[in-house]
Amino acid sequence: MRLVLIGAPGSGKGTQGQRLARSSGARHIATGDLLREQVQESTRLGREVAGYLDSGTLVPDRVLLELVLPLVREAAGGPGYILDGFPRSVAQAEAFDELGGPAVAVQSAVYLQVPRDQLVFRLLGRAAEQGRSDDTEEVIRRRLQIFDTATSPLIEYYRQAGVLSVIDASTSIEQVNDAVNRAVG
Ligand code: AMP
Repeated sequence: MRLVLIGAPGSGKGTQGQRLARSSGARHIATGDLLREQVQESTRLGREVAGYLDSGTLVPDRVLLELVLPLVREAAGGPGYILDGFPRSVAQAEAFDELGGPAVAVQSAVYLQVPRDQLVFRLLGRAAEQGRSDDTEEVIRRRLQIFDTATSPLIEYYRQAGVLSVIDASTSIEQVNDAVNRAVG
């Protein structure tokens, strides 16, 4: 499986990515988690990206490609990958396609569609539970806006590539999981 999960913050990419990784054996590569780990460990990369994460803006493409490509190459040669949070723009997708080449090429892209008011509700709930620095109301608003402007054009990008499925992800975790499984066949 070589899959990209697309969805706004709060759409359930992380939850679905983990489940799918467990059932398929493919590697779940969640860029937000990887970046937060670097920040927590205060590595050079972590110090470079902390400000972007706190403000909810996108980390530069170069950093993401350096982080993701080696992991994806390794996974593509083995159990496959489930990308969660990358690419987040058409520029990232193009760079990925070009640098990765056919051996790592995306086979399916699944868009987890959730109404906006439900996303905000979920994100505010997560803020109360997990205390993520970017789950404040102001930063949530910015992250949703960045999804609209920078990330949502990916839907058309993968539609044109003939690999897109759109799923109603406003339902239960189980129902979404079933729909994702059907979509990736
Ligand atoms: P997430 O956990 O996927 O919501 O990501 C949290 C934050 O990590 C984002 O708000 C960005 O600051 C950063 N980030 C994660 N993935 C990317 C990416 N592909 N490109 C740029 N920034 C990213």
